[in-house]
Amino acid sequence: MRLGLLTMHNTPIVGVLGLQGDFAAHGQVLRRRGVEVRVVRQPKQLTGLNGLVIPGGESTTLIKLMDVFEFWDPLREFVRSGAAVFGTCAGLIILASEVLNPRQRSLSVIDVAVERNGYGRQRESFEGEGVFSAEGTRIPMVFIRAPRIVRTGANVLALGECEGDTVIARQDNVLVATFHPELSSDDTQVHDYFLKMVRTCAG
Ligand code: GLN
Repeated sequence: MRLGLLTMHNTPIVGVLGLQGDFAAHGQVLRRRGVEVRVVRQPKQLTGLNGLVIPGGESTTLIKLMDVFEFWDPLREFVRSGAAVFGTCAGLIILASEVLNPRQRSLSVIDVAVERNGYGRQRESFEGEGVFSAEGTRIPMVFIRAPRIVRTGANVLALGECEGDTVIARQDNVLVATFHPELSSDDTQVHDYFLKMVRTCAG
């Protein structure tokens, strides 16, 4: 797959998978951080991108739409090409190597096991604060029927934690978060970290 060429002086072009879910809010944050955003609804729109966000939503619906629009192989190839990819919530479920509760298909490009709706009924959705260890800061974290990372592989870096759980993780060019950084958009540190990856991975 042909990636966008990125020099220090170019504005990166970042795609947001726009099949379903929370893609508009990611687009807004990314635009505010000065990058060009492309809403991706067809595989051919991946060409020329420097990075891609797979937003939160409902992973079972996302899976059906990825079947309909034939996104599986192009997305695997996009990750293999080395471009930075960021999955939040349902996006993480799609990228993970193992999905539980129940088991379902995934791209399997980051070695983590995730349990869907891993916080149970009582605490389905909540707003907390956690440590973003990549930057050594505390940041707000909004969880909505969030998955829980229950295993991280040896090549996976834990970059953030909330109440004892790893909530941000990275393996090479793939970044995932169990929460929704696009919804606490006054604090853009997680997107800024991803944009650093966009520049270093595709640069
Ligand atoms: N519970 C959803 C799922 O299993 C994810 C929720 C979200 O993305 N906010 O797909």
